[in-house]
Amino acid sequence: MRIIIIGAGMTGLSAARILTQQGHDVIVLDKGRGVGGRMSTRTIEQAKADHGAQYFSVKSPEFKALIEELVSNNVAKEWQLAQRENIRYIGTKGMNSIPKKLAESLNVKLNEKVVTITGNTLKTESGNSYDFNNLIITIPIPQVIELLQNSNITPTENDQAVLNSIKYDPCIAVMAVLKQPTGFPSGGIILENQPVAWIADNFQKGITPFPTVTLHASADYSRNRLEDDLQVVSKEMLTSVNQYIPTDIILTSQVHRWRYSLARKRHESAFYQLENRLIFLAGDGFGIGNVEGAFLSGYEAATAIS
Ligand SMILES: Cc1cc2nc3c(=O)[nH]c(=O)nc-3n(C[C@H](O)[C@H](O)[C@H](O)COP(=O)(O)OP(=O)(O)OC[C@H]3O[C@@H](n4cnc5c(N)ncnc54)[C@H](O)[C@@H]3O)c2cc1C
Repeated sequence: MRIIIIGAGMTGLSAARILTQQGHDVIVLDKGRGVGGRMSTRTIEQAKADHGAQYFSVKSPEFKALIEELVSNNVAKEWQLAQRENIRYIGTKGMNSIPKKLAESLNVKLNEKVVTITGNTLKTESGNSYDFNNLIITIPIPQVIELLQNSNITPTENDQAVLNSIKYDPCIAVMAVLKQPTGFPSGGIILENQPVAWIADNFQKGITPFPTVTLHASADYSRNRLEDDLQVVSKEMLTSVNQYIPTDIILTSQVHRWRYSLARKRHESAFYQLENRLIFLAGDGFGIGNVEGAFLSGYEAATAIS
């Protein structure tokens, strides 16, 4: 059976692993230049910074089995924040090392943006066509809605209710390379009621040879400033954390606008099949959300198809 998966983030890779192991003909298509989606690590000159997901929880037995394997292969490691009791996990060379490892044994085609679905055929921006028996779409729901519209697929009333129920918070992220380490008490600081909600020290996380920090703006601040000049916003965010990162130790910085960061409102089930179609929707908008939820969503959707 030919199964196409749109999106090589944690959800798509999780689903692809299971279906590939079962002997299906699986192709994962991603519009990006690399895999991982929001589990993203950016290289700035010779320094590195996680700029999407920062760390993740491991609670379910299914995810635990995978992460234990990745820890024993030195791809993931335990991590603890001074402000949090529970152990979390990170990628040893950045969050992106995890999806990269998962993708090694899978048939992933990059730079393939899916633009339309007609019957059982997909078309990509590059002009390629792919036939499928089953389709799993793992991209953020607003992008699913756009894809369905461009494909002249009218969702049923029930489909529409599910699509409309899923909402994401935006996040403006700033990554800065520093002249010297921060001296933070642990690898990250959570702030409250401020423009910046989170500062990560990527050097302390052990993912970069040169000191870098990642700042995430709060959801409210990000929503209010999403369409503003990002250079101005970046400067404002860095100034607001001057007490933790003196401006004169910043060598260079970059800013990124995430329109969809965390899924604030999710559908209660781990995936959803569009009515009367062989199209499954999965992702962090389904189930528990976050990296672990994305893994479980992909896992459950794949299990339902196989
Ligand atoms: C700033 C930020 C901070 C976060 N912090 C945390 C955290 O600390 N802990 C945590 O657990 N989670 C965190 N998250 C959330 C976590 O990253 C996501 O829940 C998870 O990675 C979602 O995975 P996914 O596979 O469902 O989606 P994605 O990772 O978004 O993957 C979807 C993929 O689809 C591709 N795509 C989109 N449209 C198309 C198309 N038309 N054709 C082909 N490909 C397409 C994209 O390129 C992308 O690779 C954070 C996210 C962000 C952005």
